[in-house]
Amino acid sequence: MKPCSLYVHIPFCKSKCAYCDFFSVVCKNRIDDAYIQKLLEEAEMRAAQFDVSEWRTLYFGGGTPSLLSPNQIEKLISGIKAARPIAEDAEITFECNPDDITIELLDALKANGVNRLSAGIQAMSDAPLSVVGRRARRAENLSALELLSKHWIEPENSEPKKRRLSLDLICGLPGETSESFFAGLDEIISCGADHVSLYSLTLEENTPLYNAVDSGKVELPEIEETDSWWIKARDLLEMNGFAQYEVSNFALKGCQSRHNMSYWKMLPYIGIGAGATGTVGSLRYTNSRSIEDWLNGKGEEKELLTPDIQKFEFLMMGFRTLEGVDISEYKSRFGGDISVIEPVFSEWCRKGLAQTTKERWALNKEGLLLLNCFLKEIMDFFL
Ligand code: SF4
Repeated sequence: MKPCSLYVHIPFCKSKCAYCDFFSVVCKNRIDDAYIQKLLEEAEMRAAQFDVSEWRTLYFGGGTPSLLSPNQIEKLISGIKAARPIAEDAEITFECNPDDITIELLDALKANGVNRLSAGIQAMSDAPLSVVGRRARRAENLSALELLSKHWIEPENSEPKKRRLSLDLICGLPGETSESFFAGLDEIISCGADHVSLYSLTLEENTPLYNAVDSGKVELPEIEETDSWWIKARDLLEMNGFAQYEVSNFALKGCQSRHNMSYWKMLPYIGIGAGATGTVGSLRYTNSRSIEDWLNGKGEEKELLTPDIQKFEFLMMGFRTLEGVDISEYKSRFGGDISVIEPVFSEWCRKGLAQTTKERWALNKEGLLLLNCFLKEIMDFFL
């Protein structure tokens, strides 16, 4: 039996944001209890299938988990606990749309042991938030931050801290200017969060935003300009104690996301819910994106990862982090030697974009900006 991370997918949103290509469907009313019931059945079934001893981390993502009612949150977390115990020191993260944050929701999260809240702020000014159709505008984001500071964040002198807060920001949204972006970043840095995810906007094909940009209805800020905003924002976060530890993630000391680190270290994880995926050892499964099919136990896809795919994924995920890849872990998992990528890696070291220690190989901060180029170069050794 082994401990495992659990991802719970809640694929419902009140409305769709223009840039989003995550799997979620519009749900105007409350989430049906049948969905919660099926999640619990799947938690039980996957725990038995993969011989799980306990949940080491839990992550409620979406979609919009904050659309769940307090009763549904209670039912879900107690049912997951009944399937397998939640580790005593488990990190339990719950994604929230700022517009949904109320004292009632925060009380329900606290009462059920959630100890990390992740809020999708995305921007702090109305222009970008309205162009991409976010439900929460500046006023809602501000009142969410105020509620969080009063009812979630613990006083500075309370040690150890039981609750944590992560905020998401997107750099390069249409309607954003340098002034508005950095004013928003200042507000994020000073609001008491311990973790910031700073993403660059990616324009995904077939999203409403892609089509609007394509047809000239919406104009994006120049990419060279927004790249320089991102780098300046990275440096500002670091100056304020938020150390970069992954391509888009920054944390105060000790506040890295343990759940996401388990993906980047390729530890076993189980996903439950429509569209969720899980990987344990060489088996990867993906649940159907049709909610109806998933409710009826249909449409699961399975893939057996070849040793070469596993090796490449281990490197691809490990090199996303600044601590990089553990050489002895690679050897103990795969038997072979990481030196197969040595010709590429030493060239990146020579260019000042990567570094080695006795135990690890890693890209540095400048190298991480070019991660995709690096991955393309090492991919040839495996795929
Ligand atoms: S709330 Fe999140 S998941 Fe839902 S549409 Fe917006 S970005 Fe996508």
